[in-house]
Amino acid sequence: MSEIQVLLVAGTHGNEINPIWLFEQWDKLAVLINTYGIATHKVIGNPKAYKSGKRYINNDLNRSFVKQSFSKTNHSNFEITRAADLLQIYGENGENPCQIALDFHTTTSSMGSCLVVYGRRASDLALASLLQSKLGLPIYLHESDDAQTGFLVESWKCGLVIEIGPVAQGLFDSRIISQTKIILESCLEQIKLVENDDVFFPDKLIVHRHIKSIDFPRDSKGFINGCVHPLQQSKDWYPLQLNDELFLIPEGKTIKFEEKETFIPVFINEAAYMEKNIAMSLTKREVWEFKSEWKKALFDLVQK
Ligand SMILES: [Zn+2]
Repeated sequence: MSEIQVLLVAGTHGNEINPIWLFEQWDKLAVLINTYGIATHKVIGNPKAYKSGKRYINNDLNRSFVKQSFSKTNHSNFEITRAADLLQIYGENGENPCQIALDFHTTTSSMGSCLVVYGRRASDLALASLLQSKLGLPIYLHESDDAQTGFLVESWKCGLVIEIGPVAQGLFDSRIISQTKIILESCLEQIKLVENDDVFFPDKLIVHRHIKSIDFPRDSKGFINGCVHPLQQSKDWYPLQLNDELFLIPEGKTIKFEEKETFIPVFINEAAYMEKNIAMSLTKREVWEFKSEWKKALFDLVQK
């Protein structure tokens, strides 16, 4: 029996520096993090961008795990090369193969801490259920968005993104570092409990399922000409309903939400998403019955 290996990634985005700082302190003081005896490999996802104080060098590393692009010879693109290298070292057939990847990010949105799950892989949903049960974390389920692919954790058999905020890019915040530490240790604790067959799964999983993202209002030349309305700013996770104030145009005009359906907005005014033309993403809150196959998938992975 080979033991479970967990890949821990900080700084997939080089300007999300709080998880990186935690990892660096952990390097200096091994007892800083309780790993519950789980074997871990920690890496800085995008060290070059971190050194440059940028999110990325050529393109977003967390959209670069697209295997078709690895075979191409054009590797002046740092992030494509980095994604291929990480897989060569820590991927399923790598030098230090890891079965679970945990990718620690920060957000500028007022979302608190949450988990991001990509698609509906059974083992991801099982691990997310355990963490939601333990810590009460909301889950943003990202799927069915063809414009957004190549996420790091999808290249491992099980993987979650942990988003912690709000914090500005490139700014240390002790509360964000503490929250990162608590969630990191809880992840490892739950994996250990699965290994020991001593774990309690909840009956239900609450997810906020991604439906779509919306852009800022723009002028005829494509420039942003309206900001998130002050009544909507920091209202992540609160229902957004017909006629709610959405954007404020400089001359004082308010743009209201026009859809008849109610959505739950997340990533409101996330600084990194301006370049993606995203002012916020809209989700639907759903309560799912826990499925025994989720548990089986995670057990099969951890206890193999
Ligand atoms: Zn990030």
